[in-house]
Amino acid sequence: MHRHTDFLSAPKTAQLIARTGLATCLRGLFDTLSEDFARWPDFEKSARVASHSPGGVIELMPTANARDYAFKYVNGHPGNTARGLPTVMAFGCLADVATGMPRFLCDLTLATALRTAATSALAAHHLARPDSRSMALIGAGSQAEFQALAFTSLLGIKELRVFDPDPAALAKLTANLLHAGLERAQILACTSASQAVQGADIVTTATAAKRHAEVIHDTDIAPSTHINAVGGDCPGKTELPLALLQRARLFVEFPPQTRIEGELQLLPADAAVTELWQVITGQAPGRSDAAQITLFDSVGFAIEDYSTLRYLHRLAGESGLLDKLALVPHLSDPRDLYRLLREARHAGEEIVDTL
Ligand code: NAD
Repeated sequence: MHRHTDFLSAPKTAQLIARTGLATCLRGLFDTLSEDFARWPDFEKSARVASHSPGGVIELMPTANARDYAFKYVNGHPGNTARGLPTVMAFGCLADVATGMPRFLCDLTLATALRTAATSALAAHHLARPDSRSMALIGAGSQAEFQALAFTSLLGIKELRVFDPDPAALAKLTANLLHAGLERAQILACTSASQAVQGADIVTTATAAKRHAEVIHDTDIAPSTHINAVGGDCPGKTELPLALLQRARLFVEFPPQTRIEGELQLLPADAAVTELWQVITGQAPGRSDAAQITLFDSVGFAIEDYSTLRYLHRLAGESGLLDKLALVPHLSDPRDLYRLLREARHAGEEIVDTL
């Protein structure tokens, strides 16, 4: 029986990922995600619960199977950086279904970018043309390095054609990718989205404007392209032109959530979609000919965070980086909760009032 909760702090999560290696972590997540997508019907699923406020949004993402319960907490506050806080912060928890005991608590801010990239690579592995060698990357923000590295290390992409209107973002991305071991020849900085997209086998969009934007032109997209639409992930925020959605085959994580949050917002509520897990298990066709446009309308789903928690817990345990946290009380008599106060007094706490 667990008495403590294993804890992995944000610095130790970064240490774990750096020590293990990004490519190894992306591969480990890809494999763990593949296992969990293959047993999709075993999970309880619901669209995430969002609490919107003028400054941003806080979301809870729960899921469970017969053994494990998991949730992720994640916020999005665009004004945060002016206050010295990141726009997005995330943490998550794994618990035992049999007892409710929280088993593992962990920062998920950095890990969310890795899981999003590994999920994108998993979708592209099943949907893109196997001979895909070039990828356009529209948006060079926080997610971009991880998307680039997942596609180069897991899918054999050899050329990245990057566009971001902000030169500082492009310079940051290039420097980070060179630091991660990519060669300069693999990175082509483009002066427009059209230049990046034309001739690319895969197009990844990861921009962040909270509006119905059109970051690429439909007419630039050749038949046979796979599109990995990452940025449109909340109500009122999409990235792609309607005409492109209308001529693509659409693949999603969990339709009730994607219809609220994804590019699907632009289409009628009954627009036909295929669930990615069904392609992975062979229950639905993926790409059926080379000349098809396939589009993964990624929004990020709770089961992907469960996979991430499961992977990190195992890896951190093996690396000896876990701390032990007394997150919930350990009671010598589990029916005597009051005893905790008596024990606190024995430990020297003053009584500050009396009845
Ligand atoms: P970010 O703010 O760090 O970067 C966004 C970048 O997009 C910026 O560099 C900006 O200059 C660039 N940009 C804006 N408009 C553009 C345009 N028209 N063309 C090209 N580039 C443009 O954001 P981020 O953290 O990288 O996240 C990107 C998006 O991905 C966000 O919307 C985020 O919510 C979403 N996201 C999705 C998932 C998922 O699972 N699908 C997971 C994480 C984040």
